[in-house]
Amino acid sequence: MSVAGDTRILREQLEYYGARAGEYDEWWLRQGRYDHGAALNDQWRDEGQSIARALTEFQAAGRVLELACGTGIWTEQLARTAATVVAVDGSSEVLAVNRRRVLSPHVSYVQADLFEWRPTEQFDAVFFSFWLSHVPPERFEDFWRLVERCLAPGGRVFFADSRREPSSTARDHRLPGPEATTLQRRLNDGREYQIYKVFYDAPALTDQLRTLGWDFVIHQTPHYFLYGVGHRA
Ligand code: SAM
Repeated sequence: MSVAGDTRILREQLEYYGARAGEYDEWWLRQGRYDHGAALNDQWRDEGQSIARALTEFQAAGRVLELACGTGIWTEQLARTAATVVAVDGSSEVLAVNRRRVLSPHVSYVQADLFEWRPTEQFDAVFFSFWLSHVPPERFEDFWRLVERCLAPGGRVFFADSRREPSSTARDHRLPGPEATTLQRRLNDGREYQIYKVFYDAPALTDQLRTLGWDFVIHQTPHYFLYGVGHRA
């Protein structure tokens, strides 16, 4: 991918999430185009609960940084255990939904492009969910350097993301072949966008992170999710 192509898709990706802010949660709640019937929806919720339980065990305490915080599905949970949460996202529309939902004096917000942003403080924990898959493979190492810069000595990381499973997205989204790193996404009104979506496999990602100097334990739920807890090796 040329730099120009990469930049165009990253811009489109951010536009997509901004335009989707008001309907984003339909995905997590399995509503509308994301409803795959009772059995698969129950499976999705059960597996989502596994992430929530693992995050409870992680105990995100002290100063917590949430990257690509989105509409606040996870900010709410982080705000319960953290002393402070700094929640960063590139979209003002998304941040507005998050603010309205979380309503916590311990949470502060930063609107920034994560491919440009640099931290001005260090954190005890860094959290990001459903973000790593949107980082272009060519920017993977840079992204993890950013995570390292954000961490105070002894700091820990928790992340969650999607496994490659057709029923994890809208019924009218097409999942391209396993080698693809971008795909088309559609809004309820039919507008279409190209975004990055890179699916990882837990053992390969663990190895990849180890070569970058990270020590991670990564779990996969049966169908839908993976989540990892780690720190600098
Ligand atoms: N973490 C949230 C969650 O789990 O619900 C949101 C994940 S959503 C898949 C991706 C988020 O990344 C969106 O909120 C979007 O606005 C944000 N985003 C996209 N491109 C970005 C960029 N270049 N810089 C910062 N945030 C970006």
